[in-house]
Amino acid sequence: MAEPKENLQMEKIVSLCKRRGFVFQSSEIYGGINGFWDYGPLGAELKRNVKELWWNAMTRQREDVAGLEATIIMSPAIWKASGHVDTFSDPMCDCKKCKKRFRADQLCEDQGLTLIKTPAGKYELPAGTKCTSCDSKELTEPRPFNLMFQTYVGPAATEADIAYLRPETAQAIFAQFKNVLETSRQRVPFGIAQVGKAFRNEVTPRNFTFRSREFEQMELEFFIKPDEVIEAIHGSVATVPAIGHPGEPQPNWGWQAWHQYWVEERVRFYEGIGLSRATLGFHVQTKEELAHYARACTDILFKFPFSKKDENGNVKGDELEGIAARSDFDLSQHQRFSGKPMGVFDEELRAAWAKLPKEKSDDLWKRYYDHRKNYLTKSAKPDETPEQISKQATDDANGLARGQYIPHVIEPSAGVDRLILALIANAYSEETKTDDKGKSETSVTMKFHPRVAPFKAGIFPLLKNKPELVKKALEVRDLLRPWMNVFYDESGSIGKRYARQDEAGTPFCVTIDFDTLGEKPELLDTVTLRYRDDSKQERLKISELRDWLLARIR
Ligand code: ATP
Repeated sequence: MAEPKENLQMEKIVSLCKRRGFVFQSSEIYGGINGFWDYGPLGAELKRNVKELWWNAMTRQREDVAGLEATIIMSPAIWKASGHVDTFSDPMCDCKKCKKRFRADQLCEDQGLTLIKTPAGKYELPAGTKCTSCDSKELTEPRPFNLMFQTYVGPAATEADIAYLRPETAQAIFAQFKNVLETSRQRVPFGIAQVGKAFRNEVTPRNFTFRSREFEQMELEFFIKPDEVIEAIHGSVATVPAIGHPGEPQPNWGWQAWHQYWVEERVRFYEGIGLSRATLGFHVQTKEELAHYARACTDILFKFPFSKKDENGNVKGDELEGIAARSDFDLSQHQRFSGKPMGVFDEELRAAWAKLPKEKSDDLWKRYYDHRKNYLTKSAKPDETPEQISKQATDDANGLARGQYIPHVIEPSAGVDRLILALIANAYSEETKTDDKGKSETSVTMKFHPRVAPFKAGIFPLLKNKPELVKKALEVRDLLRPWMNVFYDESGSIGKRYARQDEAGTPFCVTIDFDTLGEKPELLDTVTLRYRDDSKQERLKISELRDWLLARIR
């Protein structure tokens, strides 16, 4: 669980997280449990703020997204259909000498090597790979290790009772697609959003909370019309500039425009909570990296203190979120495995199709047919014949004329815990001051964006033994409390109280002093407002305080 010694910045962050109550080791009094973390008082507030901001941006502020809150344990058939039972695994290998276990791809990466994948889909360690713990080159062959946590539902505990803790929140969205569509009065294009726990039995959890075994995800599945449908209705699919935000969604957008839109929307979200573009990076997955059904996937990265440098000395960053264009794979899989139709009916398509010149409808039919046949062939069950597959693809393509299709999906999938770690790393700022006697002291300020900061304001009476000051300070606290999370503190010198709030990341502090009580009559009912980041102070009327703060924390 210890961070590598050379990563001093991470050590400082981990230590601050414990000291100030952002993150604790789970089950610490029993020696901890690897890959599990608890959020303390400040961390819990930070996390809540982040999830609420995501939920607001993704659902409440939009017309075209509905929410969902599904169970963690679902029918195991879901994980069969999604492919997780068969293929959700990482290659694992062991050192025969010291018995240490590794994720084979990470072990190679740590030594500047690349794990070999054979054409048959097996993994092999490249020559020279050694154990990073004892240097032995005696390592076992990499073998797949399924990352899903298993449990049993009911008292029997037989093979038939096996269930899984969900390894992602997304699948529930696909499984409930029809129910949400029917109850939300949405029509494609529209999205379903969910925030919740996910579990992965990671081979080697590491980098603090970055790779945990229990974590939270914030996922959106945004359902769109296939490009062939857009072309049938609008004549062509819009082309958008390859760089930048493509603007307000348009009816003739195909998957590329929607994918780019969501990448840029997500970057704006990160910028809005204090992660500037300079702190982020991107990884556009190559053809080889993409899943067979995916058309594109762009990862948004954050430059963590542990992120590695590339060959040119640049830090690329590690994944915060992946935005994938997943075609119609997921809904198609659930349709095939459940036998329940997952397609939608689109009157606009039906009407447009009837008016298409034959040449055009033949062309669109053929493209849709090829896409469906390709999907059906790649995910065929062993007993399915090529004739059956062709017949199914023909039926699917014939559906277009009746206004029927299976929606495609763009999936922005973010990890809450990784984002929290990014926000903490980004906010961490140290300052060392040396006094007249040459004694130096280092103080930490957590420069969180006010939107995510655990506390929005610290409220202090200048002196705790002056009842009038305390009374007024409590009044100010109670005035703000219904609107925001504030922290009342009357103990210690005012300087100490400021320092404590700086470490907690509280953006503003409000001090009630003798002028508040009218010592200087013109300052009656005003307070000292102090800014965290530059310690500047100004005077503000109590009557204006709430709106002043609200304007800065929302
Ligand atoms: P990685 O390649 O780092 O294992 P992934 O590509 O498997 O991640 P996804 O399956 O795309 O991740 O999950 C979406 C998001 O969920 C990730 O971008 C990440 O933020 C978060 N996430 C995934 N696995 C973990 C984990 N073990 N601990 C914390 N967050 C995670």
